[in-house]
Amino acid sequence: MPIPMLDCAAEYRRLQAQIDAAVLDVLSSGHYINGPNVHAFEQEAAGYCGSAHGVGVASGTDALHLALRALGIGPGDEVITTPFTFIATAEAIAYTGATPVFADIEPDGLMLDVDRVAELVGPRTRAVITVHLYGQASDLDRLNALCRAHDLALVEDCAQSFGAEFAGRKTGADGAFGCFSFYPSKNLGGMGDGGLVVTANEQHAHLLQVLRNHGNDGGYRHRIIGYNSRLDELQAAILRVKLTHLDAFNEARRRVAAQYREQLQGLDGLDLPAELPGRTHVYHQFTIQSGRRNRIRDALRAEDIACAVYYPVPLHRQEAFGGLGSTSLPVAERAAERVLSLPIFPELSDENIARICALVRKAL
Ligand SMILES: *Cc1c(COP(=O)(O)O)cnc(C)c1O
Repeated sequence: MPIPMLDCAAEYRRLQAQIDAAVLDVLSSGHYINGPNVHAFEQEAAGYCGSAHGVGVASGTDALHLALRALGIGPGDEVITTPFTFIATAEAIAYTGATPVFADIEPDGLMLDVDRVAELVGPRTRAVITVHLYGQASDLDRLNALCRAHDLALVEDCAQSFGAEFAGRKTGADGAFGCFSFYPSKNLGGMGDGGLVVTANEQHAHLLQVLRNHGNDGGYRHRIIGYNSRLDELQAAILRVKLTHLDAFNEARRRVAAQYREQLQGLDGLDLPAELPGRTHVYHQFTIQSGRRNRIRDALRAEDIACAVYYPVPLHRQEAFGGLGSTSLPVAERAAERVLSLPIFPELSDENIARICALVRKAL
């Protein structure tokens, strides 16, 4: 039997009665944009993260873009971020006209190396976007200290980390903005696109509400050019149902991860995902590293077992960002050759975990 990377339909079947009822309520309400479910979800999600305000937007990419716009970032500015992430993190910087500056990552957690970030801070630097990769928080204490020392805004890309914690604090609430995606494959996934920005700053929250709605500051008065980037009512209704189950789903992912660890520990030539101190991992991905990555990948594929390389080309090497420039970021480049993400989702069975682990062991 094939094993997929994730199984969105299985999650739906588990919650079907609740989701169907929520969707039918919206359909019959006639209120499809900026309705009561969006407002309730914004408060529930921000509250879950320990932040004061939530602003729903159309996607995680827009969440990042509008957060940078709210900070007034634009042409001539620089924003430092990681090269080892989904391209949307850096696209959002480029959309504003600012320049993304890539800092190398740490070899264990594969997230921003704060010492490399510090070396790149210059007179044009305005902000740092940190990515909580694969569902594990980056070092928010060190990043906050660095940003405070240089008067930079910290933006958290939480697309993969809904529910993850650093020193007991949920990701998203530490930075000037926490940016979330509800793309269906994320830990909290909608049934379509969606995103959210959380912030402690009321003025910033208001500015985001204006930006997402064509710059409309009430009564069709437009002081700035905005966007059409709203979270829609149907997605918000679905996300409200799923948010109440998120802790259980993240716990189930940790159960899968614990079994992978137990069955794959101590193998020569295989590194398990780093468990960084003081964090609660939500395992958006379970990502192993190996010099024999491609052999493992081929062995799994031959048995119809999904696996994926997140990410095969670091962003500083992408043609869209100038391609094969002279910048060398060796830790990110090495990671791109070694990472392999195994299937992980709450419904993955013990039997299938064992099958996957047996194949990995054999391939090594
Ligand atoms: C998914 C993702 C995004 C983009 O989210 P969308 O909702 O697809 O726009 C941004 N950053 C990271 C790290 C992601 O994984």
